[in-house]
Amino acid sequence: MRPISYVRVSDVDEAVAAVTASPGRAFLAGGTTEVDLLRLGVIEPDVVVDINDLPLAAIEDLPDGGVRIGALARMSDVARAPSVRERFPGMSEALLLGASEQLRNMATIGGNLCQRTRCAYFRDGLSACNKREPGTGCSAMDGANRAHAILGTSDKCIATHPSDLAVALVALDAVVQTIGPSGARSIPIGSFYLEPGDTPDREHPLEYGELIASIDVPGNPLAGDSFYLKFRDRESYEFALVSVFAAARVRNDRVDDLRLSLGGVGTVPWRARRAEARLTGGSATVEEFAAAADEELRDAAPREHNAFKVEFARRVIVRALGQATRGEKS
Ligand code: SF4
Repeated sequence: MRPISYVRVSDVDEAVAAVTASPGRAFLAGGTTEVDLLRLGVIEPDVVVDINDLPLAAIEDLPDGGVRIGALARMSDVARAPSVRERFPGMSEALLLGASEQLRNMATIGGNLCQRTRCAYFRDGLSACNKREPGTGCSAMDGANRAHAILGTSDKCIATHPSDLAVALVALDAVVQTIGPSGARSIPIGSFYLEPGDTPDREHPLEYGELIASIDVPGNPLAGDSFYLKFRDRESYEFALVSVFAAARVRNDRVDDLRLSLGGVGTVPWRARRAEARLTGGSATVEEFAAAADEELRDAAPREHNAFKVEFARRVIVRALGQATRGEKS
C-alpha cells in the first residue's frame, strides 16, 4: 500500500502554498472522481490538500446580469440557484443531467470542469494510454471506442470530454478565474480546454498549484431561452453519447443570434462555431439546420465503433435547432 498524506487548509494562499511546496501534490475538493482515480492508481499524489473549507462556494450576481459561481459550489446548489434557473436554464439542465443526485450534492463546479475522461483504458491504470502515460500508445484507437470522440481528435488520443456543464459554459463564453503561484488570472473557457494533439496528458493551461476560484458566466439575454438535450444509453447516471446546448433568437424568419455547443462527441466541450456561423443571418428551416450540422461535422473522424455518432449528432443538432428557433424548451 502506498501512503498518502492529508492536509486540510482554510485559506486560498495557504492552499496554493501547500501544493506548490513540493511536486506530487494535489488539491482535493468533492473527490467524486478524484478518489476513484486514487483508488485505481491512475493518479498517485503523495499529499492531498483538502480545500473544502476555502470560502469559494458563493453564487453571486454580476452587474451585467451574469453570475459568478464559486469553484466549491456544489453541482446541485448551482443547478437550483434561482439566478441560474431563471437566466441560464440550459446550464441548470446540464448540471441536473450530469451524475446522480448524491454525486451532485458532493461534486464541486471546479472539479466538474477539471474531471478526467471516462475512457476505460485511461481508468484501468494498465492499458497503453498516452493521456495517463505519454508515449505508450492509445488502446482506444483500435479498441472499444464506441463512446469516444469524433471531433478534435488526434492520432495520440480520441478520449471524449465528460462534462455536461462545460458544454453549456463554452456556449456562454464563461471565464475561469484562477489563483496560483503566479497570482490571479482570467482564462476564457474557449482557451481552457486543450485538444489532445501530441500532448493528450495536458488538458488545460493550469500551472501546478493553480486553483480555480470561480467561473464567471456573463449576462446574455439569449441564455434565458437556452436548453440542454442529452442522449445516452440509459436515462440516469450516464455520460452523453451526444448532447447539445442551444439558444437562438429568430427575427423575420431569420436566425438573428445563436449559441450552440456539443457534448459527447469532442475531445473538448465543443463550441459549434461553424454551425453558428452558417446559420446566423440565415433562414430558420430544417434544410438550413441540416446544412449547418453538416458544416459542423465536416471534419468528423470516427473510428470503428463510434461512426454512428456522426449521423446521431447531425440529427440531434437539427432537432435542437428546430426547438431553439421555435422557442421551445427541452
Ligand atoms: Fe488514453 Fe486517450 Fe487513448 Fe483513451 S483515447 S486510451 S485516454 S490516449
